[in-house]
Amino acid sequence: MQELPQFQLSAPSYRYGKEVSLDPTCLFCKIIEGEIPADIVFRNENVLAFNDIAPQAPTHILIIPTLHVENGAELAKASSTITAELFKVAEQLSSERGLGGYRTLFNTGAEAGQSVFHAHMHLLGGRPLAWPPG
Ligand code: 5GP
Ligand code: ZN
Repeated sequence: MQELPQFQLSAPSYRYGKEVSLDPTCLFCKIIEGEIPADIVFRNENVLAFNDIAPQAPTHILIIPTLHVENGAELAKASSTITAELFKVAEQLSSERGLGGYRTLFNTGAEAGQSVFHAHMHLLGGRPLAWPPG
């Protein structure tokens, strides 16, 4: 029998009638599970979006898959459907807020500024955004 990753054995989580992979040590998995509060602005089966705790723009939302994968590249390997869903949710949230434009990005790896190793898309807008970024 195939051995399951440890986090599945220690923290099976059931949503919408199916088991999903979460990591009990991961901050964003805790937000998904409601163990840590967040200002949630969108939720469906595959995607959760909440305001960033340290906003870098008037709109700064984190859009995450409701399964634990380390970064955007790993998410793309796990599910191209959910990867695409993040972009659709970004467009919806931007349109609801009447943003004239917005930036979506994934920091991948500590050198690029990633500090939480659960894939998350940053949605930034509501002010002119300079380029190149820092
Ligand atoms: P990263 O640096 O990994 O690309 O982005 C992580 C983001 O998560 C940062 O923008 C940071 O402000 C945000 N963040 C860290 N801890 C929390 C938290 O407990 N709640 C919320 N809402 N955002 C958080
Ligand atoms: Zn996680």
